[in-house]
Parts: sequence; structure tokens; C-alpha cells
Amino acid sequence: MKVAVLGLGIMGGGMARQLVAKKFDVTVWNRDAAKTATLASAGARVAGTPAVAAAGADIVLAMLANDDASRAVWLGNEGALAAMRKDAVAMESSTLTVEWVRELAGAAKGRGIAFLDTPVTGSKAQAESGALSFLVGGPAEVLERVRPALAAMGSSINHLGPTGSGAMMKLINNFLCGVQVASLAEAIAMAERSGLDARQAAAVLSAGSPGSPLVKAIAQRMLDRAYEPNFFIPLMAKDLSYARQAFARAGIELASADVARAPFVEAERAGMGQKDIAAIVELLRR
Ligand code: NAP
Repeated sequence: MKVAVLGLGIMGGGMARQLVAKKFDVTVWNRDAAKTATLASAGARVAGTPAVAAAGADIVLAMLANDDASRAVWLGNEGALAAMRKDAVAMESSTLTVEWVRELAGAAKGRGIAFLDTPVTGSKAQAESGALSFLVGGPAEVLERVRPALAAMGSSINHLGPTGSGAMMKLINNFLCGVQVASLAEAIAMAERSGLDARQAAAVLSAGSPGSPLVKAIAQRMLDRAYEPNFFIPLMAKDLSYARQAFARAGIELASADVARAPFVEAERAGMGQKDIAAIVELLRR
């Protein structure tokens, strides 16, 4: 199966490496060509444009920062969609607005190309180890065609309904993640300022009801001041803003998302945009 992977950031890079390791015929493209080098040495072909990567592929998978990046890569100059074979499948795994995902699905349909939204949960470690969880929207028969590729990158495949269902599920998921990380930063800062042993406090929180997998992982990074990126700060600000828009359209004013988004925006303004989301705790340590 020939797979084109467009976007080799933290997530797309790991996903492409899993496909190569599992013997798929992989062609990669990334805006910053420097990120293609490790994939080339692992055995992937490197394309100079999204269109060249997509031509001839059975599956074209995008893993990009946001709506603007996705629009540019699929529909822009040298974009992927116009170059795809009619019997190929377009898959969007980036975290995007539901509106854009539906528009893109419509553009694919207009060209007779099957489309799935396939965002993921899991982070860098899961992308690198083929243990992502896919949240799929679109026709079941199209999912069956791409299942082997998804299974190479993920340990769980959740078919949530028609086009846009995966994107919607992802925004609901990341809304709850963003709120937890913002609140956790405040909890850790309070433990430190109040004179508690912060490591002991984090152990109590982690072992108790608040101890979600996310809280456990991020608390450790906050305590260790370990901010090498797993998930860049601006991407969480983006996810909370996209979630807010989606909820507002359904008549739910997401006040908690606004509050949670503020420290991610502030951290980016303070020059921390290339750090992991755990670094927002530093705003409260100043
Ligand atoms: P990342 O490391 O920042 O990678 C972003 C990718 O988007 C890079 O390939 C980047 O290219 C590309 N890009 C950005 N703007 C572009 C543009 N205008 N045109 C073309 N390419 C553009 O981010 P990531 O962590 O891999 O995340 C990718 C997506 O997955 C995001 O939607 C994110 O929200 C989602 N996600 C992330 C995680 C996580 O834990 N990291 C988990 C689940 C989902 P350059 O290299 O040229 O900048």
C-alpha cells in the first residue's frame, strides 16, 4: 500500500516512521525540507511538493498544525487533492475545525475522492510507537480500505459516525485536556507557594480522583521542569479556540475554555511557544 504523509512534525514524523517500519511504501513531504532527512534514511521517498507526494498514492494522510496549514497543503498551489488518483483515500489527522473538515470533504467529493477525518489522541510517545487512538469520521467502507494503515500507526480505531464526527470528538477531547492542564498548573503552583512538598502533593493528586493519565504525565513534567516539546503550547491554544467555536454553534458557551486558554496564549506571548504545554506552570512561578 502506497501512503503519502504530509507534515512531519512531532506527530506526523512518528506516524510516518511507523508506516516505514511496518513496510508500507511511504512518500513524505514537509514544508521545512530539513525534517525529511530522518525519514529518507529510514527508507521513505521524499517529495518536493504535496502534489508530487500525493500522485500515485493509495492513501494521502495529512498531519498539520491548523486549518490554514491544512487548506494550503490540500488545496493550495501544488496542493495534494488535485494530484490524487480517483480511487485513493484522503485522510486528515490534524486537529481542525469541523467546518473546515466538512469543506475539505466536500472538495474531495467534488473530485470523486473518498475522504475520512482521522484525528488522533495520544502524543509523541504514542506516535513513535504506533499506539495512537484514531477518531474516525466518514463512511465505514472507506475506513475498511485504510484500516491496515491506521492499525500500523494506532492501537485503537474508533469509528464515530459521518464526516466531521472524528473532528468533533477530538475537539471535545482536547477541551477537557486543556482545562485539566491549565488547572493543574495552578494546583502545582499553589502547592509550592503554600509550603507543601510539591512532589508529595502531586503524588496525592495523581493517586486520587483528579489523577487522570494526563494529570499524572503533566504533573511530572511540571515538577521536573522538563519542557522538551511533546505538545507545543500554541497548539493547545488553537484547540481550545476551535473547541469554543464548535460548542458555541451548539449553544454551549464554553467559559471554562476561555479561562483555560489564557495561560497558553500568555505563555506563547512570553516566548515559550516552542516549549511543551507543561511549561505554562512557569507563568505562576515568576
Ligand atoms: P508540529 O510538530 O508543530 O508540526 C506541525 C506540522 O505542520 C509541521 O509539519 C509544520 O511544517 C506543518 N505546518 C505548519 N504550518 C504550515 C503551513 N502553513 N503550511 C504547511 N505546513 C505547515 O505539531 P504536531 O505536534 O506534530 O501536531 C500536528 C497536529 O496534530 C496538530 O493539529 C496538533 O494539534 C495535533 N495533535 C498533536 C498532538 C501532540 O501531542 N503533539 C496530539 C494529537 C494531535 P514545518 O515543519 O515546515 O513547520
